[in-house]
Amino acid sequence: MKRILVGGFHHESNSFSKIKSGIKDFRISRGQEILANLSPNNSLTGIITGLQEQGYEPVPALYMRGVPNGEVDYSFFREVKEEFLALAEKEVGKIDAITLALHGSMRVAGLGEVEGLILEDLRKLFPGIPIFFALDMHATISEKMYRYSDGFVGYKTAPHTDCTETGRKAAEMTIFALETGRLPQTALVKVPMLLAGEKSGTDVEPMRTLIEGLHELEKNPDVLSASYLLGFPWADNPDSSVSVSVVTKDSKEKAEKLAKELAEVFWQRRQEFSFVTEAYGEEEAVERAFSYLEEGVWPVYLSDSGDNPTAGASSDNTKFLSYLTGNEKVQSRLQKLKSPLIYAGFYDPESVQKCASNLGKTIRLEIGGRFDDSHPPVPLEGEVKGYIKDYAYAGLQGAVALFFTKNIQIILSEKHIGYTEPRLMEELGLKPELADIIVCKLGYLTPGHQALAGKSILVLTEGNSNEDLESIDYRYIPRPIYPLDKDFSYDVDDYIMRR
Ligand SMILES: [Zn+2]
Repeated sequence: MKRILVGGFHHESNSFSKIKSGIKDFRISRGQEILANLSPNNSLTGIITGLQEQGYEPVPALYMRGVPNGEVDYSFFREVKEEFLALAEKEVGKIDAITLALHGSMRVAGLGEVEGLILEDLRKLFPGIPIFFALDMHATISEKMYRYSDGFVGYKTAPHTDCTETGRKAAEMTIFALETGRLPQTALVKVPMLLAGEKSGTDVEPMRTLIEGLHELEKNPDVLSASYLLGFPWADNPDSSVSVSVVTKDSKEKAEKLAKELAEVFWQRRQEFSFVTEAYGEEEAVERAFSYLEEGVWPVYLSDSGDNPTAGASSDNTKFLSYLTGNEKVQSRLQKLKSPLIYAGFYDPESVQKCASNLGKTIRLEIGGRFDDSHPPVPLEGEVKGYIKDYAYAGLQGAVALFFTKNIQIILSEKHIGYTEPRLMEELGLKPELADIIVCKLGYLTPGHQALAGKSILVLTEGNSNEDLESIDYRYIPRPIYPLDKDFSYDVDDYIMRR
């Protein structure tokens, strides 16, 4: 039976956040533990099951996964990488291929892009065996990632609901190479664009049609995969851009021709990318929310999009909270809501700890403003309404608390989690479906919230995932790049990446 080394690294690293992601921010599984804990909607699950179903033996090494956050701590990363390579080294001469689950936008403080470094080390250990991987749609492709691999494929949905299928596609490419003895050919073309996820949901144009184009191309019997990898705009990165990849069975020329065509179509539609929901500044967003309530529409979701932890922001920027608690006019309207506003939530280990022994009591907290210190903590007096010691989210375990003040129910978390699921509110005793207004530190709504929302509004708030890309002080991204630069022409031949 052919044996395939599997594993992966999954982190989206926001270089504007001051947080350094370390061991407490990751779930790391090793060896058989990986096979025993397959998650739904996960690319590594797709790789493993895809290989097993075709009679291949996955050889699990190490899988590290964390919620998007600040760049990964250097010494922590070095330890994990060395452990992974030591596990891989034991398999030298005993495996036939390598298939990995990567995010594609992981960065380490002081080191930059690291997925390419891992692939480079693997290539040195295993010259001549195929290396394939699955990627997040928001992957930022570096020269090393391209040079030291044989092919890759990204998710085709945002929100990401096809992660397992994408893993299966990476497994299929691996199996193709092993069964036929042919080495697939990958073309990679860059498109000089920065694109926020909130402008590139796949349920709406122009992404809907662009993705249909990929599916159509994958029906071609010579094509193994076609991907748009959109990059990640909240990392100041010399590799930043949209990338297009096409993997064919064996024709380099064909892969390149098709990738160039896809890149040109994407570029032509660059001006069509726009927010998928209504988007306003803080004041107008709140005004609109009250208008919808008057029309009998609820709950109105307000995404605090500039501080979205699922885009790696710190989740403790306080500017919008200050506005809701400190602006007299807004406060008097909030006081009249029949159900308190829900605010999910703040990454604030200190405040959570204070809540732990004060359930049911009135206490004073200084909320947020510790990691993103562009605005100070907000001093508030209120009642601790809920506390869960071990809330599990995406492999992390930590305490969460509910703090009630000024007719706002604020969720506080000990761990840097994403507010992607309404279940956290429910477990804390809230009824989100009956709420008038829900503020969520999130960008586009995930399917769970979407199902509840009467209306969804993107609030263009401040923070490490500021949606106004043109206002960000980038230093390292390649120029020219759209939309920071608008007046330049794109010659696709200048943007083909060569190994
Ligand atoms: Zn993504």
